[in-house]
Amino acid sequence: MSDLIFLFNKNSYLLIPKKLMDSLEQYRQEPSSATEKGGVLIGLYRTPHIEVTQFTTPKPEDICKRNSFTRYSKSHIETVMHSWQNSNSTETYLGEWHTHPEKDAYPSSFDLNEWRKNLPRDRTKVLIIIGQNNNWYGVWDEGVIKSLNPIFAS
Ligand SMILES: [Zn+2]
Repeated sequence: MSDLIFLFNKNSYLLIPKKLMDSLEQYRQEPSSATEKGGVLIGLYRTPHIEVTQFTTPKPEDICKRNSFTRYSKSHIETVMHSWQNSNSTETYLGEWHTHPEKDAYPSSFDLNEWRKNLPRDRTKVLIIIGQNNNWYGVWDEGVIKSLNPIFAS
């Protein structure tokens, strides 16, 4: 796999570096008894583009079940705040990632409802679901969840 680039809006690109995806894919739900994992995505709004640069990983306070991941730990948001402070106020909260126990990841109706209910509407947010074979990528943009396919591999 190479760096992933998505067109999420007219002239607006989302960049997810290969290195970051390689790290995220270490959380793939294999064997099939493994529980869901997740965290938040951190990165840069290079208006009109977006670049994901970091992610947080499950903490003991989070609830990882076979078919759900619930983020309870405050440490995810503390990491976002530290990134903001250590980056001259450029790296910020970008969205959410979690794994699914299915070959081709796709958001559940529970996921869609949670995102619609909880994601801030101020700016575009990035969503990643790591599947056992294929991942799902999307954005929350102007109150709509859009599925994305990579358009260019560098
Ligand atoms: Zn899910």
